Amino acid sequence: MASSKGSADVIIVGGGVIGCAVAYFLAAEHGVESVIIERNGIASGASGGAAGELAATELLEKGGHRSAPVFTRFLQEGVSLHANLAPALLEESGVDYLLSDIPMLRPAFTDEETTGLKDELAHLQQSGIEASWVEPENIQAMHSWLAEDAIGAILSTELQLESYPFALALAQAAEQHGVTIRTGEVTGLERSGGRITGVRLGDETLSAETVVIANGPWSQFAGEWIGLDIPVIPLRGQIVHLDLPRGAPRPRQAIFHPTGYVLPKAGGSLYVGTTIEDVGFDTEPTTEARDSIMEAVARIAPQVMDIPIKQMSACLRPYSTDDMPIIGAVPGIDGLFIATGHGFKGITLCLVTGKNLAELMIQGASSFPMDEFSPARLSPR
Ligand SMILES: Cc1cc2nc3c(=O)[nH]c(=O)nc-3n(C[C@H](O)[C@H](O)[C@H](O)COP(=O)(O)OP(=O)(O)OC[C@H]3O[C@@H](n4cnc5c(N)ncnc54)[C@H](O)[C@@H]3O)c2cc1C
Repeated sequence: MASSKGSADVIIVGGGVIGCAVAYFLAAEHGVESVIIERNGIASGASGGAAGELAATELLEKGGHRSAPVFTRFLQEGVSLHANLAPALLEESGVDYLLSDIPMLRPAFTDEETTGLKDELAHLQQSGIEASWVEPENIQAMHSWLAEDAIGAILSTELQLESYPFALALAQAAEQHGVTIRTGEVTGLERSGGRITGVRLGDETLSAETVVIANGPWSQFAGEWIGLDIPVIPLRGQIVHLDLPRGAPRPRQAIFHPTGYVLPKAGGSLYVGTTIEDVGFDTEPTTEARDSIMEAVARIAPQVMDIPIKQMSACLRPYSTDDMPIIGAVPGIDGLFIATGHGFKGITLCLVTGKNLAELMIQGASSFPMDEFSPARLSPR
């Protein structure tokens, strides 16, 4: 028989950036103190291992396939919210996660890539994002590390941050507003009729009137608890961390190409990436990934090959197979909400997700229209 371990108004399953952001906004904007239940450690999944780029476009990740307009608008709101909330998060948490601007080049090496990128440039400009086309001679004048045979590039300025310190800042700011973080693995939900009454932690139960499922790629298993198919799969991404000596020359711009990227971080480190692998829940870095990343980087920024490798990291993107995050109330179960499936963009989208889901939970409506992200589209298992 299960023993009771207390109660909470709201329980959030998962202490990644999405769970922490929902907890933060519930407490900071609505005075609702929740309990986050995390089985490993805050940001122990992709939230702590992400590259930390906050771009309002995701064309490159999808190999040229443009996102739905509502998703692009959500990304833009996400980036703005990061810029607006940063001073408060720094003050409330005391953690500087190095939010900063970074110039970014998206190069073309073929006429076909030029055509695609010029189309993308027009799209960025129409969306109000400052970006311009740079000819090869001007790229060289920028002292770029981009390969000399690039025939042009989009130049834009993006925001970036350090992911793990950012997640800690969010969690600590949430705690300042009364949120509790508990270690434990949620193994099921408690229900009475059509209402949520709590969560199971093995043999124990913790009662709550409201539960938010925010456990990233593992949210697919939460589907078994409620008889719904939650179509979120883990897509492994690996990053090579280079050992750039202090004071050594470093790239002045990030370089993003569909085959790979070079990302100089504000804290001095240099990341190159990445992979997109459908290999289940395996988070071991591999030599194959290291070789394929370095091969891509040798093509786009050969100078990077002179820098020794420090370490590799691998983590799992929670990828929603219909390309849209799943955010909102679960139909037919009062008090149950989901926030998952943010794929390649969870760091960019966590604040806008947390803010709007908190509004939906407390006021019954959100300022950003989230109908297209609703769990109402999920099918029974
Ligand atoms: C290589 C790589 C680079 C990336 N770069 C960027 C980037 O530059 N910009 C960007 O916007 N996004 C980026 N992302 C994507 C981003 O990291 C993710 O979308 C985001 O971190 C997802 O956050 P989450 O909170 O949904 O999931 P997670 O970070 O996976 O958090 C879920 C948490 O739930 C916990 N959990 C699971 N099951 C249970 C349970 N039953 N009980 C209790 N706890 C549980 C887990 O331990 C985990 O801590 C990147 C991802 C990868 C892999």
